[in-house]
Amino acid sequence: MEICTIGGYELVGKNMTAVKVGEDVFIFDMGVSIPALIDLQNDNVRIYTEKRLRQAGAIPNDLYLDRLGWRNKVRAIVIGHSHLDHVGGVPWLAHRYPNATIMGTAFTMALLDTIARDERRHIKNKMIVVKEDVTQTIHGQSGTYKIDFIHVTHSTLQCSLIALHTKEGIFFYAVDFKLDDTPVMGNPPNYQKIKEIGKQGVKVLVLNSLYSGTKGRSQSEMTARKKVEQAINSVKNSKTALFISTFSSHIERLKSIVEFAKQTNRKIVFLGRSLDKYVNAAITAKQCPFQKDVSISKYRNEVNSVLREVEKNRSKYLVVCTGHQAEENSILDRIVKGQTPFNFRQGDNLIFSSRVIPVPQNVLAREKMDERLEKIGVKLQKAVHVSGHDCEGDINLMLQMLKPEQIIPTHGTHEQEFPAIRIAQKFGYEFGKNIHLSKEGKVLKF
Ligand SMILES: [Zn+2]
Repeated sequence: MEICTIGGYELVGKNMTAVKVGEDVFIFDMGVSIPALIDLQNDNVRIYTEKRLRQAGAIPNDLYLDRLGWRNKVRAIVIGHSHLDHVGGVPWLAHRYPNATIMGTAFTMALLDTIARDERRHIKNKMIVVKEDVTQTIHGQSGTYKIDFIHVTHSTLQCSLIALHTKEGIFFYAVDFKLDDTPVMGNPPNYQKIKEIGKQGVKVLVLNSLYSGTKGRSQSEMTARKKVEQAINSVKNSKTALFISTFSSHIERLKSIVEFAKQTNRKIVFLGRSLDKYVNAAITAKQCPFQKDVSISKYRNEVNSVLREVEKNRSKYLVVCTGHQAEENSILDRIVKGQTPFNFRQGDNLIFSSRVIPVPQNVLAREKMDERLEKIGVKLQKAVHVSGHDCEGDINLMLQMLKPEQIIPTHGTHEQEFPAIRIAQKFGYEFGKNIHLSKEGKVLKF
């Protein structure tokens, strides 16, 4: 089994991994780098091409697969979940693998469809919507392969751990998960299946390690729900404007926000293109319990006319909008820069149900935005949130259940990934022998 670690092994974003067994190659995730996309936007690049995205480092450098002679052997592109750093590269790169079937859950595939349409990219590959916890079969040149999509919790809907069963052993892809026993939507992780695969014997585990340096288990989404309840209740009776910003992909969180927002008797409006994309994907996947409770505006003139109303009737609306990372051209960014008919005033309320993604661009941009808002006198409630990523305790459990022969930490800088090495060492793994830090384009053979 050969593994080419194409993207996401030295930084956060543009995840992509290729696994080769005999004459067959399987690709896991094809993401984009959000900071690189932000840089492009800051350079005023609005129309993307594959070439431009490659130059900017915004999509994975999959040309490694051409050099290795693997490109024409790719049988499937398997997507673990709907975050753009996992699926956002597909519209740009799938054409290079015309014989590969693209597979993902209903929510992930609906989102892929939306982003491809948005970028006017027509994906010609065969596409399969998989049901969670159902095994898929792929016929390759060197054999038949079973692929398990195993339900797991994270911070968006219908996320999967993926097990590729090959004649050389099981490759297990665990990138972006937390082990949440009390999710707000859907089931807890499918522990039974994870343990079953562990018993069959996992040859290689690719393990999300971004927050491996954080002690304990990752907190449940139920905790975030309580924080949201508290945050909204604390400003429920104010007569000022009330805004909430969260991750558009976090449908569970949006559900909690809407449920408590309804108790304020304010009209709930969702503003922003990415909210529109993810909510519509949820509707397509029949996973949007609050569909009837909200109205969504995505185009600039629609958004502006809603904001004009909010400006006039501040206590009548609760606005859920994009911009918690202070992204250029997000709703909050445009409001703060005075580019909309709405202006924040002293005493208005803004809840951030998010945390700042730990990359320098986001951290700086948010600091600047918060400063401006605080100067106006907007009451900010920050980090009304819990993480969707595995911490030390989740990794401990995963290693106990899977007992993999080899581990490759991913999804961060080496510094962020390194604590996962220390965790594995407690289980007897040795750095360089059966746990490895990799880099872009490197091939590991097991
Ligand atoms: Zn994710």
